[in-house]
Amino acid sequence: MDCIFCEIIKGDIPSTTVYEDEWVKAINDLNPQMPVHVLVMPKKHIASANEITEEDAETIGKIFLAAKKIAGDLGLENGYRIINNCGEDAGQTVKHLHFHLLGGRTMGEKII
Ligand code: AMP
Ligand code: ZN
Repeated sequence: MDCIFCEIIKGDIPSTTVYEDEWVKAINDLNPQMPVHVLVMPKKHIASANEITEEDAETIGKIFLAAKKIAGDLGLENGYRIINNCGEDAGQTVKHLHFHLLGGRTMGEKII
């Protein structure tokens, strides 16, 4: 399988790891859109939010616990945004589930 984030998780492609545990890896986005732009992903390959199954429930919970910890560690006490792009219409480019953790300045634009 050809998945850039699986390669990153294996350590075959370099990345800046900001957090890692048994379930989760978090790296700095290569093309940051905010002062803090971290990608939080499961170590298990799940292609998108649409492919999450019941057996992934614990893993998904671990992702959000990791995101909260990272936000605290990176000083985002004023808030942050978590975004997931799922599928073509949402512009998902990497087909390995990941959540964009964004913060570090006031965010004006809101979609919802
Ligand atoms: P999405 O469009 O939601 O699928 O987001 C994919 C994100 O992955 C983009 O923000 C890219 O900048 C980021 N990205 C792609 N390749 C890498 C990489 N090798 N290391 C870190 N971030 C990456
Ligand atoms: Zn993958």
